[in-house]
Amino acid sequence: MSENKKLTSASGIPYYHNEDSLSAGARGPLLLQDFILHEKMAHFNRERIPERVVHAKGSGAFGTFTVTNDLTKYTRAKVFSQVGKQTRTFLRFSTVGGEKGSADTERDPRGFALKFYTEDGNWDLVGNNTPIFFIKDPKKFGDFIHTQKRDPYTNCKSPAMMWDFWSLNPESLHQVMFLMSDRGTPYSYRHMNGFGSHTFSFINAANERHWVKFHFKTKQGIKNFTNDAAVKMKGEDPDHAQRDLVTAIDNGDFPKWDVKVQIMTEEQARSYQWNPFDLTKTWSQKDFPLIELGMLELNENAKNFFAEVEQSAFAPAHVVDGISYSPDKMLQGRILSYPDAHRHRLGANYEQIPVNKCPYAVSNYQRDGQMRIDGNSGSAPNYFPNSFDNIKPDESYQQPPVPLDSLIGDFYSRNAEGENDHYTQPGIFYREVLSDYDKKNLVSNIVGAMSGISGPKKADIVNRQLCHFFRADIGLGMAIAQGLGVNPETAMPKQHSKEGAVLA
Ligand code: NDP
Repeated sequence: MSENKKLTSASGIPYYHNEDSLSAGARGPLLLQDFILHEKMAHFNRERIPERVVHAKGSGAFGTFTVTNDLTKYTRAKVFSQVGKQTRTFLRFSTVGGEKGSADTERDPRGFALKFYTEDGNWDLVGNNTPIFFIKDPKKFGDFIHTQKRDPYTNCKSPAMMWDFWSLNPESLHQVMFLMSDRGTPYSYRHMNGFGSHTFSFINAANERHWVKFHFKTKQGIKNFTNDAAVKMKGEDPDHAQRDLVTAIDNGDFPKWDVKVQIMTEEQARSYQWNPFDLTKTWSQKDFPLIELGMLELNENAKNFFAEVEQSAFAPAHVVDGISYSPDKMLQGRILSYPDAHRHRLGANYEQIPVNKCPYAVSNYQRDGQMRIDGNSGSAPNYFPNSFDNIKPDESYQQPPVPLDSLIGDFYSRNAEGENDHYTQPGIFYREVLSDYDKKNLVSNIVGAMSGISGPKKADIVNRQLCHFFRADIGLGMAIAQGLGVNPETAMPKQHSKEGAVLA
């Protein structure tokens, strides 16, 4: 039994009447002076903060990252400095398009956002359960997300909007195929892989840079819902993934992932057949094999969902010494948009909220703002340079410069040579990675999803998207056309190769 406490107002004033309001006589109207009533109603009215515009529905837990392999020749990051070293983490999983109350089993990518509380500051690796994404330029992000949300007129989800956008943006095909496979409906957050998705860099003690991609391989094994099972679970338990995670951790069945990296030299990046910074492409593991790095375990549920999961804030901008950015255009956009979103959602001082707070020293000249709750650095100087304190920028944290191809700013073209093959990797994925069972479900999931397209542009959208599937693989295009009842002759692109690879 916990200790007895007095009931108080938010300002600590004990009071007695918590269920009945002060009124002018037993049957009379209420009196304005009952400030406890105002406080209860007013605070309740303000309980909701803006929900995340993407990744609104999520679950999270604390855990431990353990280094299992020495990669100090690539990175000087203190988090990786020694085999056996452990770092506390917080991982938030999520769906992407749905609102905060939407079902966990929706067909959607899953967010995989991981915070490492390192002694060099908090490192956020903000990825997904897929190694790729729908677009490769952040200018399109808002447009893309609008198509995953609600139609402005019907206020319903719209397959026509989704497929219209995808069919007009063929770089989305690779991710669309991942999404439409059964990995688009994972059984739980424990039974899926995670990816840092973007290309990042490792910087070692000699200030040399390598490009890196992060992979998290589930030790629980991959397990997915079929489309029918996912739809059924939506009705039975919309919070299935949340319940699964909390229950597993409460039972001591701690989920684990092997953490691996792919490493590319700067030299290799210059000659690799794909743009290594294009978020719609993977680096083949045959060319860049996975290298062991560590193990991630989730072992502590949040004590309070709102305090720790809802208020958690991740930003790809938050890298620590030894880990840095790359020219990946989507990463560059996210470096701006994530902290910006948190300032809007949680306020300018969001990094003082305990789940986001760096447990080590934070020293700078940022002051004031709403909800400043850390003492605001007391009487210490609030400007730099100054003659009074001893906060010094440390030169050892300087990074090597990134050589560029060009000295002028230019708009890149998605149709330029080297950027315009949106079909080879999806074709390999279909032919070489998916089993016959996976292929069958992929086709039936696509046919089911595209059957929802309606409206005056239906035929245009269906035919345009079918062309992309044909370009990835003729067999895939044929199977989908057949499933949709479309004559493949009308949908097939004019020129095609037998292998189903890129077409003119
Ligand atoms: P590999 O054969 O070396 O790797 C294939 C990868 O696909 C493995 O990571 C495998 O790991 C994963 N995979 C297996 N089944 C599925 C599935 N149903 N859905 C999604 N991923 C699956 O080939 P490459 O590295 O040369 O890549 C070939 C193609 O595989 C790529 O074009 C891409 O479409 C896909 N892929 C590539 C990844 C990469 O980082 N290179 C990662 C994931 C997919 P696991 O079963 O543990 O997920």
